[in-house]
Formats: sequence, C-alpha cells, structure tokens
Amino acid sequence: MRIARFSIDGNVAFGAVEGEGPDGLVLDIIKGVPFADFELSGTKVPVSKVRLLPPVLPSKVVAYGRNYAEHAAELGHEVPEAPFAFFKPSTSVVGPGDPIAYPSFSQELHHEAELAVVIGRMCREVPRERVADVILGYTCANDVTARDVQRREKQWARAKGFDSSCPLGPWVETELDPSDLAIQCTVNGEQRQLGRTSQMIHSIEELVVNASEAMTLLPGDVILTGTPAGVGPLSVGDEVAVTIQGIGTLTNKVIKRG
Ligand code: MG
Repeated sequence: MRIARFSIDGNVAFGAVEGEGPDGLVLDIIKGVPFADFELSGTKVPVSKVRLLPPVLPSKVVAYGRNYAEHAAELGHEVPEAPFAFFKPSTSVVGPGDPIAYPSFSQELHHEAELAVVIGRMCREVPRERVADVILGYTCANDVTARDVQRREKQWARAKGFDSSCPLGPWVETELDPSDLAIQCTVNGEQRQLGRTSQMIHSIEELVVNASEAMTLLPGDVILTGTPAGVGPLSVGDEVAVTIQGIGTLTNKVIKRG
C-alpha cells in the first residue's frame, strides 16, 4: 500500500494512494493514523485536488553517511567499518513539490538521492531478526547538503540540517522488498545519480540495529540509508527529482531563501 499524507481544505489526513499515472491517482482517506491498525474510509479524493505533505513528521531523521563505496570514494573518503550516523532535525523535512531554499551561508549545495526507511512503531534495541516488524515502509529522500559547510565545520548540523534540507515523499510504500531497487537522481531532467540499493555497504537491518541500540525510535522516525555515487551541485531554479523503483518520484525545486 502507498500511504500519503495530505491537506485538503485546511485539514490534514493520511490516505491510501490508488490508481496509476498523475491524472489517475486517488486517495482513499484513512481513518486515524497508519501507525496502528486502521481502516480505509471509502471516501476518495483525486490526488490532483490535494496538496501532498511530507508522508510522515519524524521526531528525528537518523541519516547514515558513506554507505555506498563509490560515493565515499568520490568525496575522497574511506568506507567506514561501522555504520556512521548523523541527525537531520525535524525542521529540515519538507514534502513533495515543496521548495528547497538555498541557504545564505553556502555556495555549494549538493543533492543526495537516498532510500528512506520509515519506522512504524516505538522500538529500542531491535534485534536484526525483528527489524522488519518495526518498519512501516519506504519513501524517497534527498539528503541535501551544503558541501562547502560540511568541509568547513566538524559537525554537520548546519551543513545537513538547515531548513528544507530533507525532502521526503511522495508517499510511503509499505509492501516492498528494498534489497535491490534502482535509485536515481535527475536535475532538470538530466541524470546525475544512478545506483542500486544492493550496493549499500551496511544493510537496512544493520542500520536499524545500529540506530536503535543508541536511541528509542518513534513511529514516523526516518532512517536515511546513504547515497550512491554522482552527487553534484544544485543551483537556484533547478528541479531535482529522486526516483526509487517501486516507490515513485520526489520532485523539488531550488529557490533562493526569502
Ligand atoms: Mg547522505
């Protein structure tokens, strides 16, 4: 099931996305929230009549760096032996179609297409064999990075945590084998990144184990699994799109911060 979060007439709701193609998609409104047993209301609205929001509002985004060997190499880094985590704050999250606002303190914004894992239930110290039980599903993410600031500052809080640096969407796919999916990034329609999730150094299971042995994960929390090779610059006016096989496409435009 594809679960989207959306607003219509000032109200926010979750809906199950049905149909195919931009004009054929409809939302069957969910009664309640998708983090517990829920029912579909049977009330349907066309996706074209709503505004899609970030599919979840995470309390935290736990992001993993250098999880694809070719990407680590292109930035001149060794592959870390253990998974290597950092945070993106809840305020960095934006939804499909929302602008990415170029921060004033950077001159080198980069795209990073990533598979995002959405946590479905509160959990801690999750053993490897239970990881599937705590995952609601998967969505597309862009770990937008101020690369110059990342080089300059030891902690990445500003480089990767500024407002709108974490586009998520367009929805959460709950029935998906994430082990070997094509992951692509285009800028203005031109391909910049193309990889497969099977190229991850540390698996999704390892990342959830790693994050949850340190901290409690809450429903809606997001784990970013790293980006394949091909990261590169974004400019004001660019349209950046992350497409993951079996999920869909997350598109955002880069604007000047107002
Ligand atoms: Mg990243």
